[in-house]
Amino acid sequence: MKKYSIEKPETAWREKLSEEQFRVLRKKGTEAPHTGKYNMHFEDGTYFCAGCGEKLFDSEAKFDSGCGWPSFDKAIDGKVEYIQDKTFGMLRTEILCSNCGGHLGHVFDDGPTETGQRYCVNSASINFNK
Ligand SMILES: [Zn+2]
Repeated sequence: MKKYSIEKPETAWREKLSEEQFRVLRKKGTEAPHTGKYNMHFEDGTYFCAGCGEKLFDSEAKFDSGCGWPSFDKAIDGKVEYIQDKTFGMLRTEILCSNCGGHLGHVFDDGPTETGQRYCVNSASINFNK
C-alpha cells in the first residue's frame, strides 16, 4: 500500500467527515449527478480536498461540462494521483488526493478546452474557498 502524508484510521475519518464525504472520499463512492453543491458553482477561488485540506483545483480550470459533476480541465501540479480503475468493466483513470489518498472522481481525455482533459470530481470530495 502506498503511504500518504496524511493517514488516519477509518474511525477517525468517520468522525471528521460527513456520511456522504466518507462514502465518496474513503469508499470511492459517487454522488448522484446534478446534486453536488459545486456542480454549477463558478465563483473565483480555490478548491481544496475535503479530507485533508490540500489545494487541488483553481476555479480558472473549472468549466460546465454538462455531465452533472464539477469539472476541471486541469489540477494543480502534483496534487492529484492517477490510478487505473478497471471496475464496472470499464477502463478509467481514477483521481485521488495525493496527500491523503481520498477519492475525487475520474479524469477523461474528452475535455473541450485546450488541455483536452475533463476532471470529473465529486462535490463531496472538495471544499471551496475564495
Ligand atoms: Zn486529501
